[in-house]
Amino acid sequence: TTESATLALDHRFADELPELALAWQAREVAEPQLLALDESLAAELGLDPAWLRGPEGLGLLTGNRLPDGAAPVAQGYAGHQFGGWSPRLGDGRALLLGELTDTSGRLRDLHLKGSGRTPFSRGGDGLAAVGPMLREHVMSVAMHALGIPTTRSLGVVATGGQVEREVLLPGAVLARVASSHLRVGSFQYAAASGDVDLLGRLADHAIARHHPDAAEAERPHLALFEAVMAAQAELVARWMLVGFVHGVMNTDNVTISGETIDYGPCAFVDAFDPATVFSSIDTAGRYAFGQQPVVAEWNLARFAESLLPLLADDQDEAVAIATASLGRFRSLYSAAWTRGMRDKLGLAAAVPDETVASLADDLLDLVRTDHVDHTLLFRRLGAAARGDAEPARSLFLDLAGVDAWVERWRTLGPDATVMDRTNPVHVPRNHLVEEALVAATGGDLGPFEQLVEVVSAPYDERPGMERYAEPAPESFGAYRTFC
Ligand code: AMP
Ligand code: MG
Ligand code: MG
Repeated sequence: TTESATLALDHRFADELPELALAWQAREVAEPQLLALDESLAAELGLDPAWLRGPEGLGLLTGNRLPDGAAPVAQGYAGHQFGGWSPRLGDGRALLLGELTDTSGRLRDLHLKGSGRTPFSRGGDGLAAVGPMLREHVMSVAMHALGIPTTRSLGVVATGGQVEREVLLPGAVLARVASSHLRVGSFQYAAASGDVDLLGRLADHAIARHHPDAAEAERPHLALFEAVMAAQAELVARWMLVGFVHGVMNTDNVTISGETIDYGPCAFVDAFDPATVFSSIDTAGRYAFGQQPVVAEWNLARFAESLLPLLADDQDEAVAIATASLGRFRSLYSAAWTRGMRDKLGLAAAVPDETVASLADDLLDLVRTDHVDHTLLFRRLGAAARGDAEPARSLFLDLAGVDAWVERWRTLGPDATVMDRTNPVHVPRNHLVEEALVAATGGDLGPFEQLVEVVSAPYDERPGMERYAEPAPESFGAYRTFC
């Protein structure tokens, strides 16, 4: 077919950074069965969905049958995990198959998760289970549809094999597409090697791939740092605005591109509360919802440290440069957050930033006290902007408080049309995700496919399908995620 004749997997990462790339092969998948396929992503990549569903396509999605010239590698990286330094993490259950050029000429990584043991596996089995891979698929579909930068899932293939966790689970491989898999941890690995030439090549590779304007700057490596800082400030602000908790913001899970990566124990908040933690392993709440901007800044400080040898010959001078630059993170973050809140509240550009921020802060105080559902509230505020405040008002206990707030906000003339295209009806709610994954693990893909469809169009009202827009029933209880 045309795809197998023309499909080319480039290997620029492996060629330019051989110190970070170990040639490796994906594990044999005896009985591949396609569980999920993102057809719109396939189209972006110029791949025919019908071909992807066939034997050659499944061979690509599992790494078992690659085009001539492909050179898959396990990538090396380091990282701070929950604040503790790990000098050697790397792709322990993943592989970079190579880079594809998409239909708009952009280079995209094609990568596998769950493709077997590698030299980076340490004690791990190199495998992934169906549930967590389908979870990554649906979460990344939702994030993309919400306009939040993210890695994508091209598809999930059940392997036919079993994975040992607390119980035996069906195994799967996920094919991930990303603008790259460069991480803060990649820079930490290069920096820790002491090889400044490698560090420089990595930085130049990142500039060429993600932040080409930095190449023209007076100090390109400082400009790289600043571009990554701006991208991460924007990303984490978008998470906060939509109520997304990543759950495991280790430095190896922070991309240089500014895409969300590594959907493990992530989840969306229902009642807005900065203290929300879902991950069963985050016992200290390091990665709680409200901590995310602070952690992002901490992670960027680790990135800056790894870049020091490139910033100036003199160490003190390099530290001074990096510190001054990092000092801008907080204002970048609040500017991004306020910009997003302005749209969520439907406020015009003429309304001063301070007014937007104080209105938003006051609203979130009421929301937190009354445990109001974040997604439902912002959507219902659209109706309030049109004159019917009752649906939003009825979510609160403190009616005097919400009435006074609505009064203040309405005098600023909120635009309901802007709000309707900013505030989603549908996010992948925890109880719906759980329900879909339990069914899928048991062999019924129906609820999963329905959920994927709903979260692919997050701003569309779906008459007759209100349960997809509603908070979890009381009986669902507190949500715990595992990675
Ligand atoms: P993560 O928590 O998914 O970001 O992974 C952190 C590190 O653990 C990475 O180096 C992964 O490759 C590795 N890892 C996670 N799960 C496994 C597994 N089942 N087998 C081998 N390595 C793993
Ligand atoms: Mg990771
Ligand atoms: Mg992971």
